[in-house]
Amino acid sequence: MRFLAYPYVGPEEIRRRSSDALAGTPVSSLRDVRDWLAANPDALVEGATYVVDLRGSLRLAPRRSEHVACASGEEVLAAGEIRFRDDSPQPSVVEVTNLSTGYCPDVTCWAAVEGALNRAGLRPPSGFTTKMLFRRCTACGQVTLVKDGWFVCVFCDADLSSSWNVGARREVGD
Ligand SMILES: [Zn+2]
Repeated sequence: MRFLAYPYVGPEEIRRRSSDALAGTPVSSLRDVRDWLAANPDALVEGATYVVDLRGSLRLAPRRSEHVACASGEEVLAAGEIRFRDDSPQPSVVEVTNLSTGYCPDVTCWAAVEGALNRAGLRPPSGFTTKMLFRRCTACGQVTLVKDGWFVCVFCDADLSSSWNVGARREVGD
């Protein structure tokens, strides 16, 4: 399967602040998910930061973590926020979004999220519970979000592209 890899597009000073100590924890089984939730119980209430790394694995970090730190500065296949519920017999995913201002991934990164959740033994929802439409304004160069279906730049009122155009992506996978 082929995926798109997204480079970090956020501020350089945030990238410089990331360190190995802040890297996200890879979770590839339900045991990993349970262990991580036991160590980070806030994730059940306020959610967590996640990325899907270039190997297709889910990596989790506490909510206020930067995505670029969670990803160790690497490209990602997906990034956003995730919230779990401690259901029996196993935790479930109640919210998952593509909200990452560091990577601004397109909603089409869902396929990578679905694959990573399956790999961790979690049942994915039918899609992102909240979808973010990131666009780069070609008039002023700022990255902005499409709000309520209005494809208009919040900074300069110019029209926004109908398709994702934030930066350069590359195809990865086989
Ligand atoms: Zn603009």
